[in-house]
Amino acid sequence: MKCSKVFDVAIVGSGIGGTLIAALNQNKNIIVFEKDKNVGGCASTFKRFGNYYNAGATTFMGYEEGHIIKKMFDAIGFYPNIKKSQTAIRVIQGNTVIDRQTDFEAFLEQIQEAYPNKNNRKFWQTIKEIDEKFWQLNDIYYSKKNIISYLKSAWFFIWLFKTYKGILFKSACSFIETTLGKISREYENFINAQLLITVQSTYQTIPLLSMALGLAYPFHKVYYVNGGMGSLIEELLKEINVHTQEEVLCVYKDKKFYRIVTNKQEYCAYHVVLNSTVYDSGKLFVQENIQNYYQQFSLHDQSAFVLYMILQTQEEFLHHYQIILEKTIPHTLSNSFFVSFSDQYDEKLSKNGYSITISCHTKALFWKELNSKEYEEKKLQTQEFLVQAFLEHFKMLQRQNIVCCFSATSKTFQRYAHRLNCGGNKLSLKSFFNLPCASTPFSGLYNVGDTLFSGQGWPGVALGVEILHKELNETKVCETLGATLKKSCKTV
Ligand SMILES: Cc1cc2nc3c(=O)[nH]c(=O)nc-3n(C[C@H](O)[C@H](O)[C@H](O)COP(=O)(O)OP(=O)(O)OC[C@H]3O[C@@H](n4cnc5c(N)ncnc54)[C@H](O)[C@@H]3O)c2cc1C
Repeated sequence: MKCSKVFDVAIVGSGIGGTLIAALNQNKNIIVFEKDKNVGGCASTFKRFGNYYNAGATTFMGYEEGHIIKKMFDAIGFYPNIKKSQTAIRVIQGNTVIDRQTDFEAFLEQIQEAYPNKNNRKFWQTIKEIDEKFWQLNDIYYSKKNIISYLKSAWFFIWLFKTYKGILFKSACSFIETTLGKISREYENFINAQLLITVQSTYQTIPLLSMALGLAYPFHKVYYVNGGMGSLIEELLKEINVHTQEEVLCVYKDKKFYRIVTNKQEYCAYHVVLNSTVYDSGKLFVQENIQNYYQQFSLHDQSAFVLYMILQTQEEFLHHYQIILEKTIPHTLSNSFFVSFSDQYDEKLSKNGYSITISCHTKALFWKELNSKEYEEKKLQTQEFLVQAFLEHFKMLQRQNIVCCFSATSKTFQRYAHRLNCGGNKLSLKSFFNLPCASTPFSGLYNVGDTLFSGQGWPGVALGVEILHKELNETKVCETLGATLKKSCKTV
């Protein structure tokens, strides 16, 4: 079949990754497909029973001078409607309360009181410095599409080594042992609860660099997004040709371009960017070599259990809390949960009371493998446990303040964000050269999103987008050069 129109770039999915790459390339002839009616995937805002909720992501970090997010937004010419959270996260563990905040000395004082250790300053100062250095790096590169890109990736690794020296090969575990010594179970839980939400892992299995990036997250300014996280995505996509409720079913390579078959129509594009997870992308192809390429990435069996509530009360709250418990939450992997309140002045989210998103980690396959009766029972047990634990920690509230309450599992994420798992594989020294990256071995086919090398959340996904943006535009330069050379050859 002939193509009446060929797009420069077709983007499959409007998550943070798909959205940022679309916004950065809006001068091109672009089309974005989104299966759901809301844009944003795990960073979307949805409406249910007349109220709005953030589906997953609630904290926005990186809108500060020198940071990749700010640089990207400036390049797009986009000014987000955000409000700085006065405290990034309040962590509550039994009777201990620690405010994670940008004021380092105030934070250190609280840490020293909660978990006394003569080397607390050395530990947290090093964490902060490693993180600051990382965000100053300008030329982050990771690609494996050909020999040159392997060499460039190796060069980036050498550059990382020059910047961090021995730190690069140090494990988080050994750094804790050598600076803090043997720490209490409470201190360990405090560190791990934060690492689970930022780098999807505990300190026992990650390098020091990953731990530093994870623990330093709240040393940066953390923002609340007015109108919900999804509104940031909607604004970024305002000028872009986005087809919502249009699922891409199949992609195949024709001679010069890719054909994209959706539930509505067929399209053609020179470049295809997949914002679907690397675990799901293979299903879109019939070509065996492309299927085989995606099959090498085995599912990272981790997802989220999320509780959504509307709370009617006159009480005032911070934007975010993390509650650390003694026991593991039933049917999950966490002994902590993250609570986000909508801002009381947010006219959209707080219209009928505070909109609350509570999340914790769970296995992705666990929920999928239950029969429907077991699924409903277990989902209700986890939901009820979380509601009870929430009320125990916010004693000024009664059950009747909660006027609406429902929850989501990995199966719900699969239905609405088209993914069973949440987050990608952890970044370790062992995995560094095996992680998926933006480019693929297939010309014109790319990946973007949090299942790639640079990880999850706004900052992690943005790093992957930066690499992809260079690759996409490098290709353009090469193609133009190629075409010009061919032309001049013919003329000769
Ligand atoms: C509970 C939870 C809390 C989180 N909290 C935070 C936080 O506070 N701050 C933060 O920065 N990050 C947070 N994160 C992480 C962050 O939300 C994710 O890392 C990020 O949103 C993932 O972006 P992505 O680009 O990978 O796209 P995704 O979110 O995976 O979106 C991909 C999109 O592609 C669409 N799609 C897939 N396949 C197709 C297809 N075939 N056709 C059409 N459309 C398709 C999907 O419907 C989806 O909308 C949280 C995540 C979760 C789950």
